[in-house]
Amino acid sequence: MTEKEAKGKEMELYKKALEKWGNAAQKLMMIEEMSELTKELCKTFREFKGNIPAICEELADVDIMLMQMKYIFPEWKYHKIRKLERLEGALKK
Ligand SMILES: [Mg+2]
Repeated sequence: MTEKEAKGKEMELYKKALEKWGNAAQKLMMIEEMSELTKELCKTFREFKGNIPAICEELADVDIMLMQMKYIFPEWKYHKIRKLERLEGALKK
């Protein structure tokens, strides 16, 4: 499978998940996964290094949900372009 085919298959999974469970349920799942990642990242300050496998697992969960959010809200791309330009400007100062 080529990288392009793999990406197409991945996008198809996100679309099917949204069709199966609906936008509202997936938005709630996004919130849940973000909170799980938040918790794992907070532990890195309390326990000095945290649980790296747990952080990586939650990052993967958040990434999967984020991709579905991008499917629901495609306008995010325009905001990203603007914000990257702003970041670039800030880094030049
Ligand atoms: Mg999770």
